[in-house]
Amino acid sequence: APASPPARHLFSDPAQVEALRGNLLAWYDRCKRDLPWRALAVTEPDADRRGYAVWVSEIMLQQTQVATVIDYYNRWMQKWPTLQALAQASLEEVNELWAGLGYYSRGKRLQEAARKVVSELAGRMPRTAEDLQKLLPGVGRYTAGAIASISYGQATGVVDGNVIRVLCRLRCIGADSSSPAVIDQLWDMANVLVDRSRPGDFNQALMELGATVCVPKAPLCRECPVKQHCQAWCRKLFGKPSPVPDVEDCCVGDCPLCPPATEPWDSSLGVTNFPRKAAKKPPRVMRTATCVLERRGCHGASEYLIVQRPSSGLLAGLWEFPSLPLAQDLQEEKEREELAHHLQAWMGQPVAAKGLQFIGEVVHIFSHIHQTYVVYSLHLDGDVTLDPALSPSRWVTEDEFHASAVSTAMKKV
Ligand code: SF4
Repeated sequence: APASPPARHLFSDPAQVEALRGNLLAWYDRCKRDLPWRALAVTEPDADRRGYAVWVSEIMLQQTQVATVIDYYNRWMQKWPTLQALAQASLEEVNELWAGLGYYSRGKRLQEAARKVVSELAGRMPRTAEDLQKLLPGVGRYTAGAIASISYGQATGVVDGNVIRVLCRLRCIGADSSSPAVIDQLWDMANVLVDRSRPGDFNQALMELGATVCVPKAPLCRECPVKQHCQAWCRKLFGKPSPVPDVEDCCVGDCPLCPPATEPWDSSLGVTNFPRKAAKKPPRVMRTATCVLERRGCHGASEYLIVQRPSSGLLAGLWEFPSLPLAQDLQEEKEREELAHHLQAWMGQPVAAKGLQFIGEVVHIFSHIHQTYVVYSLHLDGDVTLDPALSPSRWVTEDEFHASAVSTAMKKV
């Protein structure tokens, strides 16, 4: 492999870098979305609170759409406006507020890290990307760069999914965008490009461009503020990147950033030739039997049994209807028997498999699991004494169920 990538993949012309920064920032000033954490990052005079606000928003935005995050962010900041307030919250409260946002370990780690800042760092947020990453659990390179640049003005780049897409297109990077060679190169580029006087705005502008203009499927290249710097756009228009060295030379060698020679430019895809990803592993397929146990509560309203999941693993610490993972290709009769047996352990009394009423199936896609819940219900006449030796469990009304720390999948059930 060549010692350094060909010039087409780099930002080595200072004048061009300056022009790109100027165009991007001017566009951002005109077009940026009005988001609650942005206002706070600018107006909040207390540096620790600024850092906290950006941190919360960045953790919530991981793998989650902006539109979904806004409401969660506002409720979170209302309930825990400071690190100190969050450090005093219980995990149950955090899970209740996080319910429905997915990837639940994020909330838990955010709270653990807040406790660490309060107890070990005297409530003072680390001020550089290096320290943020080193000292705060759950804060990776991207989040550290975002907090440091947006809250503290450190001139450090960020690379997230949006930035990967934009940079790969700007520089025709067609090798697997999750490969270490490409990722390293993208971080180097982000650090070269970031505007020294407005690093936070520049980073947000690059991400905003990826989120609203340079989108995955149908990018709006004609409206793009940096199209004159974009090799992929140039290649789409003129058949070659610009400047026009022989692009095919690059593919023939062992360039670590070019598309593999076996997958050359596909003109029908245009700029969406970039970025390229290695084929995803198919999701794991799982079936889980779940039972909605219902009883008449003391005020006559229906109550439902929910039990708490283990404190680690998928959906850690969340509440659910009693559930049992099933082997694949199990006959329905056998499914019922296994579920009845499982329920018996909860209730301390025999449960007749034929008393379980099949309700239907609910499919929920987790990031890496295709989960099917096979839903049954059972109405109980008498009272049931729950075994306190088992995981925590409780009876809840429908309203209480919705206010509890339950996953979106359970709400579907
Ligand atoms: Fe993305 Fe198109 Fe802009 Fe290039 S010109 S950065 S491909 S939107």
